[in-house]
Amino acid sequence: MKVTEHIAKAKGKTQFTFEILPPLKGQHINALFNSIDELMEFKPPFIDVTYHREEHVYKDRGNGLHELKVIKKRPGTVGICAAIQGKYRVDAVPHILCGGFSKEDTENFLVDLDYLEIDNVVALRGDSVKSETYFTPNKDGHAYASELVQQIAALNQGNYLDDELLNSHPTHFCIGVSGYPEKHMEAPSLESDLHFLKKKIKAGADYVVTQMFFDNQKFFDFVAKARAEGITVPIIPGLKPLSTLKQLNMIPHRFHVDLPEALIKEVIKCKDNKAVRQVGVEWCIQQSKELMTSSVPFLHYYSMGKSDNIKQIAEEVF
Ligand code: FAD
Repeated sequence: MKVTEHIAKAKGKTQFTFEILPPLKGQHINALFNSIDELMEFKPPFIDVTYHREEHVYKDRGNGLHELKVIKKRPGTVGICAAIQGKYRVDAVPHILCGGFSKEDTENFLVDLDYLEIDNVVALRGDSVKSETYFTPNKDGHAYASELVQQIAALNQGNYLDDELLNSHPTHFCIGVSGYPEKHMEAPSLESDLHFLKKKIKAGADYVVTQMFFDNQKFFDFVAKARAEGITVPIIPGLKPLSTLKQLNMIPHRFHVDLPEALIKEVIKCKDNKAVRQVGVEWCIQQSKELMTSSVPFLHYYSMGKSDNIKQIAEEVF
């Protein structure tokens, strides 16, 4: 079922959803299933599965030479989505990137999803590979998520890349895109970022999922500005409970989001990561409860493969 249909079916009730990462290559899928098992009692209508593009690593050949290898550390997005739909009978929402994909790769990826009866995708540009400062699209790939949305929307009309295909089957993907309450790191301003968010909606996106934020006011302001821009699709807040002391620096650095002073102070007082985890849980519960009063369709949690803290939050909120 489409994410937008889940929203309609819930008739205004806020639902619990979460995002998982495919395991590192070489690990068994059971650890992932165990963490999903923990959260199924909260009846998520869908589970997002991230996509991880290739990385460039240099392998020491031991003779003073290094060999460049292109590897994928977390493959398996499509397989995991199929496994989730089969095992739990909930919708799995794969993320799909511009980065590392040609248009042909994108089309073939979408064909696989369609065969697997996957009804939703989140369309993203992706980041640059670590060895590059700026994002470089694939040869014959997309430079921005809006172009990727356009391709998916075209496929939904039965328009494949090969225009000689006759009687082509139209797909019916519901398309999610990202939004940044504190603006995307490369955007010169929030206004400019919202302008391009609107472009993604015009291209055919059905809903927005936000980057994590720790100050609800930032989300409320973002939604108000998006509505003023004429963006009317559902906007789903993304939440992540802080769980380690290291994240105090890592989260602002990696995700370009601010942490509120009150949260920083509480974390600094903690003696160990167990205490930080508890502070993170309590902060996220407060955020969740307040967001719920503003009638958001879902509270979408970034689990990062660990479910115990998300479970603690869900027990208090749902
Ligand atoms: P875009 O929407 O394309 O925007 C990128 C930047 O370009 C923005 O600054 C925007 O303002 C600007 N821009 C857009 N269009 C134009 C234009 N036409 N001209 C000029 N500027 C323009 N990454 C992964 O690798 N895998 C994942 O699974 C993943 N999941 C995510 C889920 C969510 C909910 C979020 C918020 C992020 C996720 N990311 C993921 C990270 C994401 O890939 C990065 O943040 C990436 O840098 C931007 O992707 P985007 O789709 O937001 O890009």
